[in-house]
Amino acid sequence: MRDIVHLIGGSATAGTSGRTSDVFDPNTGQVQARVALASAADLDAAVANAVAAQPAWGATNPQRRARVMFAFKALVEAEMDSLAHMLSSEHGKVIADSRGDIQRGLEVIEFACGIPHLLKGEYTQGAGPGIDVYSMRQPLGVVAGITPFNFPAMIPMWMFGVAIACGNAFILKPSERDPSLPLRLGELMLEAGLPAGILNVVHGDKVAVDAILDHPDVKAVSFVGSSDIAHYVYRRGVAAGKRVQAMGGAKNHGVVLPDADMDQTVADLVGAAFGSAGERCMALPVVVPVGKATADELRERLLPEIAKLRLGVSTDLDAHYGPVVSAAHRERIESYIGMGVDDGAELVVDGRGFSLQGHEGGFFVGPTLFDYVKPHMQSYQDEIFGPVLQMVRAESLAEAISLPSKHQYGNGVAIFTRNGPAAREFAATVDVGMVGINVPIPVPVAYHSFGGWKRSAFGDTGIHGTEGVRFYTRLKTVTQRWPSLDAGAAVTDSSFVIPTMK
Ligand code: NAD
Repeated sequence: MRDIVHLIGGSATAGTSGRTSDVFDPNTGQVQARVALASAADLDAAVANAVAAQPAWGATNPQRRARVMFAFKALVEAEMDSLAHMLSSEHGKVIADSRGDIQRGLEVIEFACGIPHLLKGEYTQGAGPGIDVYSMRQPLGVVAGITPFNFPAMIPMWMFGVAIACGNAFILKPSERDPSLPLRLGELMLEAGLPAGILNVVHGDKVAVDAILDHPDVKAVSFVGSSDIAHYVYRRGVAAGKRVQAMGGAKNHGVVLPDADMDQTVADLVGAAFGSAGERCMALPVVVPVGKATADELRERLLPEIAKLRLGVSTDLDAHYGPVVSAAHRERIESYIGMGVDDGAELVVDGRGFSLQGHEGGFFVGPTLFDYVKPHMQSYQDEIFGPVLQMVRAESLAEAISLPSKHQYGNGVAIFTRNGPAAREFAATVDVGMVGINVPIPVPVAYHSFGGWKRSAFGDTGIHGTEGVRFYTRLKTVTQRWPSLDAGAAVTDSSFVIPTMK
């Protein structure tokens, strides 16, 4: 059995806990490796290495730090194929989608290559008599990231790419369900020239997370995962005096107006609802057609497209999507389908009990479509995180805006229309953090910032883009005056009132 261990201070180490967790291949349902679960002492060791290494890294000029990012990008690109296979074999997503996961992370690395420019401060010459003011952004020291299973490449790179380029040392606690790819990224950062101790990969569960949240030398924590745990991480981290950004779950709606390009909308909906088996925080699991005619046409057109969907193992190049991540997750998704039926929604396509010939042990769930879903239903209110599309029929644009706006989650939303004013009103008024207009998965590009609203994000700073740079640095502002050194130069009198610009 393969053992997956920590990367602490530049060395592979099994740690001290003796605890491990099984890593499955979701395509077969078989255990393929064991991952070490860190103890608090293991986390302490990682932080001690990071504390020792960070001052020299923080003092390295930003152009040299950027060069490590350039070298890392080249190494990842050279290994893209094997990395994509590694990712798929633990996550279950198809190879093309794994390549996308890695590529979206690399785009943040490309952004981080611009760090010399991004860290430039501001300067005011002559803010007062002989007085200049300047500001600089300095690294926080040691920071940490706790990441979910569903994007084991992109989300770690969202975090460590920006944090390390800013001059911090980083502790990455990836998901214990697909730990190999994040660990390999850590090794490649070392190969790219990153000093040992600047990126430590510590595998684990709640024990490791709590140790991160309580450690006094960890100054900031980024978290991405489900909302209850995000909220817990936010509260515990803030109580310990840390800066915390904690991204949570989602239930994204796709609103379809009567004038939408129906062919394109159907193609977009099917990809965004069922791609990656729906295990994306920016998936579109709810469709809201406006008006009965739109709903009936949409349903009519969705059915043949859903029937054409091909499930397969992640190496099947013709498969649209692969298995979900675990047997427990498959059971959870199937129980939500049952709940939708009990709630009174119409189950139009039932994906329960799906078995792939030759891969009967794999964690597959067939595509599922519900119609006549109502806002009071539990299966609508909760995140299902599977290949399940729920149709909620609306009578008007106002009703369609109110549905995602009133939902507990506010990560992403999309509108499909040719009506510019309606789209504009929708974007301006909907109570959701990321909006797509004829774009089904509106994940912002790397140089903008990612972040939802309401129970989709706790904390007030987005991930990557300039918000990411702000999160991983703190502002220092210097007010300087250089009095004349000439002998006999006048001494300024003591002032007992606050200086002003009057
Ligand atoms: P999860 O919440 O189960 O796990 C996330 C991280 O928290 C993992 O590293 C895990 O080890 C750790 N963790 C698990 N239980 C914990 C506990 N009791 N205490 C402390 N830490 C714990 O999430 P997941 O199943 O890996 O990922 C799917 C979820 O992530 C979905 O809800 C999805 O919407 C969300 N997600 C959100 C975004 C976003 O940006 N908003 C992006 C991707 C995924």
